[in-house]
Amino acid sequence: MGVPFIDIKRFEPGFLEAWNAKVAEMSKNAQFIGGAEVATLEKRLSEYTGTALTVSCANGTDALQLALRAVGVGAGDNVLLPDSTFWATFEAVVNVGANPYTVDSNMTDLQMDFDAFAKAIDEVKPKAAMIVHLYGWGSSRLADYRALCKQKGVVLIEDGAQSFGVKYKGEPVYKGCQIATTSFYPAKVLGAAGDGGAVFVNDQALADKVRMLANHGRTTHYGHGAVGWNSRMDSLQAAFVNLGLDHFEARLKSRQDWAARYHKDLRALGVNDITPPADYVENGYCNVTLFENSKRTKLEAILKEKGIGFGNIYPGAMSDQPGAKEFLKKRFGGNNAQQVSSTVLNFPLFPYMTETEYKEILSIIENFLSGKN
Ligand SMILES: *Cc1c(COP(=O)(O)O)cnc(C)c1O
Repeated sequence: MGVPFIDIKRFEPGFLEAWNAKVAEMSKNAQFIGGAEVATLEKRLSEYTGTALTVSCANGTDALQLALRAVGVGAGDNVLLPDSTFWATFEAVVNVGANPYTVDSNMTDLQMDFDAFAKAIDEVKPKAAMIVHLYGWGSSRLADYRALCKQKGVVLIEDGAQSFGVKYKGEPVYKGCQIATTSFYPAKVLGAAGDGGAVFVNDQALADKVRMLANHGRTTHYGHGAVGWNSRMDSLQAAFVNLGLDHFEARLKSRQDWAARYHKDLRALGVNDITPPADYVENGYCNVTLFENSKRTKLEAILKEKGIGFGNIYPGAMSDQPGAKEFLKKRFGGNNAQQVSSTVLNFPLFPYMTETEYKEILSIIENFLSGKN
């Protein structure tokens, strides 16, 4: 039968009809930029994330660049970021003219390592640091990161592209941030019908700055108080995300249920399945396991042959990317990020995956471990 790594077209009954009706209505009125859908979405996102203000933008990478620019990071500033993340985190630092320094991962939660980070802060004296809530959970030391950055006067930017719906100490993970971002790339937990992103803040002046930068540095229609760019989220994307929010609890629950099944069943099979730290409720963004490298290669060949999708999130650390060489100043910590890259294997996980699909995946893993295939 085969199972895709992710299937984003399993819409709820009535969803596509509602979307098509929206597109027809908005097209008839040429409602393409700004307007009620964008304003409503920003309000709903702030309610959902427990942050005071949301500024929508064109994509998650822009959200990071807007956050960096808005807090004053620019040419020559030092910025710390995890060595294990999606490349956009690294790109954003370079694109605003700053110097990237990577920090190794911790093998327990697979997030940035706090001790290596603390050492890097003292050595590099960064203007800002990025923390990434990776895999649908976050660092067990998140409260310590926030406290340390505050104490040292370092702005902490939280890349929450993968963490929409995650709870930390019983609250949305974004809630305690200085500034956080997310992405509505279609394969994320809350996806658009194309690209989209958002910046979350708790401070009006910072929100105004982000909004100004995302709209050509505008202070009036033809008055430009800064050099920004065009990173507005268009109205159709906002409308699609609003419709997605109407169904978000069901989608989230489905992801979380499958994530929990994997934890239970894979652990019973002796697989090194990674569970989130105690303070978190994960959003089921992805399943994360570690297999010894040669074993992983064998299992991947079987999964390919049987038509089961899989991922390696991520197959390479930032510091090993060819594109990093020219910009990377230094990497802190050991080689855990490399260790994770060479052993990580992600099994299919998406909303409304079926019992039949799950059983097929599990039986293939089970047979592989018992040497039957
Ligand atoms: C997806 C992602 C981004 C980039 O988001 P886009 O909307 O694709 O630009 C940034 N950081 C992380 C951790 C991501 O997973």
